[in-house]
Amino acid sequence: MSWVAGAEDSPYGIHHLPYGVFSTPDDPAPRLGVRIADRVLDLRKVVSGSTCSDCPTCSALASDTLNPFMALGREAWSKVRGNITDALTDSDLAGVISPLLTPIADARMHLPFTPGDYVDFYSSEHHATNLGAMFRPNEPALLPNWKHLPVGYHGRAGTIVPSGTPIVRPRGQLRTGDGRTVFGPSARFDIETEVGFVVGVPSRLGTTVSADAFTEHVFGVVLVNDWSARDIQTWEYRPLGPFLAKSFATSIGTWVTPLDALAAARVPAPAQDPEVLPYLTESDRYAYDLELSVSWNGMEVSRPRFADMYWTPAQQLAHMTVNGASLRTGDFYASGTVSGPGKDQRGSFLEVTWAGAEPVKLPDGSTRTFLEDGDAVTISATAPGPRGTMLGLGEVTGTIAPALD
Ligand code: MN
Repeated sequence: MSWVAGAEDSPYGIHHLPYGVFSTPDDPAPRLGVRIADRVLDLRKVVSGSTCSDCPTCSALASDTLNPFMALGREAWSKVRGNITDALTDSDLAGVISPLLTPIADARMHLPFTPGDYVDFYSSEHHATNLGAMFRPNEPALLPNWKHLPVGYHGRAGTIVPSGTPIVRPRGQLRTGDGRTVFGPSARFDIETEVGFVVGVPSRLGTTVSADAFTEHVFGVVLVNDWSARDIQTWEYRPLGPFLAKSFATSIGTWVTPLDALAAARVPAPAQDPEVLPYLTESDRYAYDLELSVSWNGMEVSRPRFADMYWTPAQQLAHMTVNGASLRTGDFYASGTVSGPGKDQRGSFLEVTWAGAEPVKLPDGSTRTFLEDGDAVTISATAPGPRGTMLGLGEVTGTIAPALD
């Protein structure tokens, strides 16, 4: 049990301890922090007050980004997590540690890590089936490759932004119903509810990373909103996939939940048929039982379940390195839109409103098919923790700003 007030019943209790990068009004330098209840433990201050400050771990914890710490690997991650747990549970240390805690309300959150490469997958069978039905109504919903490999594309790492960043409505080429090509703001501006995985330990070019090495390389999890302009996408995506419809911004949560905190959230992943190739097999195949929630201007419109995903993050990691592509610290890959079988489990507004055919009525009485300027979208999630506890995976939120003139 932690001595920090409120930690016992908090989704950010001692069993969670997510990492972030924060600054405060009286100390504007970004630095690493760990969340406990409604407080942030300042890791730079912890290190500067310790007898050791120049070992690799202490240097990494004094950084302004998680990358150096993530690069150290699982042994260092476990040791630091253990030390932080001790510091926040040993009541004899409360007097020393308390002054290093900042109220979360005073913390301004930054990108928690410096993104390397960014890959976005397409791993929900329900989402892929829904989109196939809408985008290619006269063809089979799933393309022939879909159950043989986790389909993905390389996204734009430089436009990954922290939760809370305003999102400017993108403009681009649009195809009108009568076959003209015009330029203008997207009128079918959408979200994608996703879960992202951050790579800590790199790999060498020309080598592969097996699915079973997932927990040795991947540091943790953040929520993702992969904003998507459906009208731009429809016109541009064939034959090479998404490009400007998604590259303008991708929002991520500012708290990285370590994989270690999700040990109790492991559940069996869906069975795969047909059998996958040997490099995609897992000796211990599991999913993470994350319950996602999507709210549109404050009203919950969907509750997708991450455990339903057909391809696991371990398989995605194996697939994206099977050709010998190397990993760098900070590489980031997202699951693809998380949609379940139910109408109330759809992870994009394209699916929620069935391409606009079934508008959503918001609490103010207005209706929506796609995003309007000023709309706010928040994705949050919970996961089971140890001993009946619950984890909150923070949130990723964004408000739509009008397109540029
Ligand atoms: Mn996506």
